[in-house]
Amino acid sequence: MNKYIMSLDQGTTSSRTIIYDKSGNIISSAQKEFTQIFPKEGWVEHDATEIWATQMGTAQEALLNAGLDYHNIAAIGITNQRETTIVWDKNTGEPVYNAIVWQCRRTADYAEKLKPYEDTIKRKTGLLADPYFSGTKLAWILDNVEGVRERAENGELLFGTIETWLIWKMTGGEVHVSDYSNACRTMLFDINTLQWDEELCGLLNIPMCMLPAPVECSAHYGDTVHELLGGPIPITGSAGDQQAALFGEACFRGGDVKSTYGTGNFLLLNTGHKPVPSKNGLLTTIAWGLNGEVTYALEGSVFVCGAAVQWLRDELLFFRDAKESEQLATKVQDSGGVYVVPAFVGLGAPYWNPSARGAMFGITRGTKREHVVRAVLESLAYQNEDLLSAMKADTGKDINTLKVDGGAALNNLLMQMQADISGVDIVRYESIESTSLGAAYLAGLAVGYYESLDDIVANKKIAKSFSPTTTEEERKQKMAGWHKAVNATIAFHEL
Ligand code: ADP
Repeated sequence: MNKYIMSLDQGTTSSRTIIYDKSGNIISSAQKEFTQIFPKEGWVEHDATEIWATQMGTAQEALLNAGLDYHNIAAIGITNQRETTIVWDKNTGEPVYNAIVWQCRRTADYAEKLKPYEDTIKRKTGLLADPYFSGTKLAWILDNVEGVRERAENGELLFGTIETWLIWKMTGGEVHVSDYSNACRTMLFDINTLQWDEELCGLLNIPMCMLPAPVECSAHYGDTVHELLGGPIPITGSAGDQQAALFGEACFRGGDVKSTYGTGNFLLLNTGHKPVPSKNGLLTTIAWGLNGEVTYALEGSVFVCGAAVQWLRDELLFFRDAKESEQLATKVQDSGGVYVVPAFVGLGAPYWNPSARGAMFGITRGTKREHVVRAVLESLAYQNEDLLSAMKADTGKDINTLKVDGGAALNNLLMQMQADISGVDIVRYESIESTSLGAAYLAGLAVGYYESLDDIVANKKIAKSFSPTTTEEERKQKMAGWHKAVNATIAFHEL
């Protein structure tokens, strides 16, 4: 009988299920969007019950579409939107409040209060004191939803990020775990000792009895309850979306690096088995725990990447399809001296300036739409280069190859610009579905579907690669222009 791996990809806007064969080909998939809840300016919530329903709905649909049943699935892997926080009753399974989503800024004042402890937070968790991470969101629920603190202290409530919630539900409330790559995004987890940290939980007044057991990213957590998918399927893989993408891109060795060009941009560098602290505005994070060993990563995030292309499409009405950005930008030789800084929602790593807003420089009477489009694409490459430079500075090592995925990585001009601006080779694999593939690979390794990492490397087929055509002098000159534009953008908001 043919056996496959089922990957559950629980994202910010939709739940997806993809069934893969051993070579990493998609056999079947299904996707359902769910409600985005914005109760107030800057607040973002999801209904945890809807997340569960859409995720299981797509799992059932994906099986049905391919005429498969549970016997055909060797294992299930999960990858998920990270940091999103759920608290539920351990007896009834009812969430006590909506899931607070990673984007939600309601806990800015909690993060502010943690600033004096930022050195401790950095040393233990690799993170910054920021409302992005789960800890302050969990504290908010405990402090603001009536009766919740008391129930939590009585041991009646459980906390989890999305993977924890899904595994708990799929095992009928039997298994309460969080994999290291998700646990390390809570600001409550010590990435050196691999334990929840008493001091950090104390700072946010979090009862430790509600925390899940930390586990590796590839292990047998439990089986799905019979009625869910027709029979028991082992759940054996779990990783946060960005770490799963790093795994899916086969970035298994120290020095391997991937960039995901989606709505935002996430760059992760495998730093091997020791955490590398950042002095350049990056986060230190756990990539995965596998076979008794932990792999760490440096992570840099940029808020606006493909979103800048959407802006050209939807607000400036320059084209109808993001793909056309490439054709338009190719019509001009260069950006004609134009620089765009797409700081629409402030600047992320390595600048961390929340109040900056976007800017455009160098416009002349001859500036055309094509120049602006080209300048926007270049800005995406400049932002990525800033992250690569920060990684080089933090590790003291060169980066020669960058693996790419995400929607905007299909833009060949952008990829050539990246090679030229960063002086690195760019590798794009045939499948840019690296996130769900990563979860499938982690799950497959735990059940012997894949025997070793070599089996996965053998699966990866290069679709296209790009090499730099510039000199170091040219690269320096271009980056100098970009930094002038960024500095002027920041200055404008400080004047
Ligand atoms: P996400 O997972 O964050 O929703 P995707 O990986 O699906 O994002 O990528 C979609 C983003 O990529 C959109 O913001 C879109 O504007 C951009 N995009 C898609 N195709 C192209 C392209 N050919 N050139 C430039 N940007 C693109």
